[in-house]
Amino acid sequence: MSPKRLANLIDGRLEAPRANRWLDVFEPATGAVFAQCPDSDASDIDAAVAAARRAAPAWAATSADNRSHLLHRLADLVEARVEEFAALESRDSGKPLALARSLDIPRAVSNLRYFAAAIVSWSSQSHAMELGAINYTLRQPLGVVGCISPWNLPLYLFTWKIAPALAAGNTVVAKPSEITPCTAALLGELTIEAGLPPGVFNIVQGRGPGVGQPLIEHRQVKAVSFTGSTRTGEMIATATATQFKKVSLEMGGKNPAIVFADAELSDANLDTIVRSGFANQGEICLCGSRLLVQRSIYANFRERYLERVRALRVGDPNEATSDLGALVSKEHFDKVMGCIAQAREEGGDILCGGHAVQLDGRCANGWYVAPTVIEGLAPDAVTNQQEIFGPVVSLIPFDDEAEAIAIANGTGYGLAASLWTTDLSRAHRVGAELDFGIVWINCWLLRDLRTPFGGTKQSGLGREGGEEALRFFTEPKNICIRY
Ligand code: NAD
Repeated sequence: MSPKRLANLIDGRLEAPRANRWLDVFEPATGAVFAQCPDSDASDIDAAVAAARRAAPAWAATSADNRSHLLHRLADLVEARVEEFAALESRDSGKPLALARSLDIPRAVSNLRYFAAAIVSWSSQSHAMELGAINYTLRQPLGVVGCISPWNLPLYLFTWKIAPALAAGNTVVAKPSEITPCTAALLGELTIEAGLPPGVFNIVQGRGPGVGQPLIEHRQVKAVSFTGSTRTGEMIATATATQFKKVSLEMGGKNPAIVFADAELSDANLDTIVRSGFANQGEICLCGSRLLVQRSIYANFRERYLERVRALRVGDPNEATSDLGALVSKEHFDKVMGCIAQAREEGGDILCGGHAVQLDGRCANGWYVAPTVIEGLAPDAVTNQQEIFGPVVSLIPFDDEAEAIAIANGTGYGLAASLWTTDLSRAHRVGAELDFGIVWINCWLLRDLRTPFGGTKQSGLGREGGEEALRFFTEPKNICIRY
C-alpha cells in the first residue's frame, strides 16, 4: 500500500503542494515510511498568506463569543477522536501510545478550550487622569501571524500557539514540524468541519528552509511564534529583526533538577524525579537532564535512583508496558548516540544504559536508546552544557546551596528548573535565585495554563501562556480622551 499523502490547508481547502514535491514521513518504532508530507515552498506560503490576509478583517470583527464558540467546537471534535489522534501521534513521533493518550491529546484539547474561554473574559485597561481625561487601551489583533512548531509534542505545542492567535482575532499560517506532520494535518481537516471561515486558519507543511523561512520573512506576516531549537531561533531573530516583527521564541534547554539532603524522597517523589529525566524518551524541552544531588545523600540517592531507571522498559510504543518508545528519527538517534560517545570520551562513567536497544518483530528497525545515567563529569563538561534531548541524565554532586545555584545557573540556557527540599525558606530563596523562566518545587511538569511559560537566556524570548499569549498576539493602542 502506498503511504498516505497529507495535504496543506489553504483558504479552507485541502491542497497538494504547488510544486507537487513530497517528503517521506517515518514511523520511528519501525523505521518504515508510513506517510508523505507536502514539501511545500514559497509559492504555497504566498497563497496561504494571501488567503489569511483576505480573511483577516472579517475575523477580527467577529465577536469574541463567536471565536470562542468555534474554538470550543474544534476542541469537541478533537476530543471525540482522542484515540485516533493519540494513535497517529504515537506512530508519527515514537512516543508511547499511553503518553499520547494521557498527555499530548488531552492537553491539545485543553489548549483550545483554555483560550476559547480566556478570550471572552479578557479585558483591557483604562487609566483615569485627575485633570479630566481618561485613557483606555485597545487590544487589537495583529493581522496575519505565523506559528512554527517542533516534533517533540506535536499537537500539544501546535495548539498552544494557534489557539491564542485565533482567539485574539488573528488569522494564522501555521507550519508544523516536517518530522511529525500528521496530527496537525488531521486538525486542519477538523477546522473545516468546525466551521472556521476559509483563510482564517492555514497550514503549510514542509521543511524549515523551504517553508519556515519564507513564512517568517513574509512582509505581510506581522508576528512569528516559534518553538524549536536555539539555532533556528537565532536565525528567526536575525531574519525578522530588520522588519521589526514581533517574535516569541521558545527554544532549547539544559535543565537542572536539584535534590537537597532535606528532600522528602518518597517513592512517589523519586518516580517524579525519574520521570522528569526520561518522560517521552527525554524529548521534552522541560526534562531535567542535569541531576544535582547534595553530596551527603549522593551515594544512597544514586542507588535508589538507578534501581528505578534500570526498571524502565523500552519497547514498542503500542505496548502498555513500554515506559519509553523510539526516538523521533534516525538523525536524532545518531545525535543522541553521539552525545553518549562524547560523554565517554570526556571521562564520564556510564552507570546504566549507554547503548541502543535492539527490539525484535515489527520494531527490529526502530530507533531505541536505553535510559542512560552518567556520572563523574564536571559541570562545565560538554555533556553538562549542551542540550542532548534524549534519555540521558548526568548526575552532579554539590556541597551547599550556593554551589547548587552556581552549577544550575552555569549554562547558556534558562528554561526550567526543579528543586526538591522540605525547607520552606530554602525553597523560596533558591527559587528566586535560579535564572530560569520556570521553577518547580517538589514537583515537575505541573502546568497551569494561566501562568507565564518560557525561558531566559538562550532558551527564550517572550512568554507564552495565559494573558502573556493574548498580549503577544495583540497590539496595544492607547486612546486618550479629554472631557
Ligand atoms: P528545529 O528548530 O529544528 O525545528 C522547529 C521548527 O522550526 C520546525 O517546524 C522546523 O521545520 C522549523 N524551521 C527549521 N528551520 C527553519 C527556518 N530557517 N525558518 C523557519 N522555520 C524553520 O527544532 P526541532 O528539532 O523540531 O525541536 C527540538 C528543539 O525544540 C529542542 O531544542 C527543544 O528544546 C526545543 N523545544 C523547546 C520548547 C520550549 O517550549 N522552549 C518546547 C519544545 C521543544
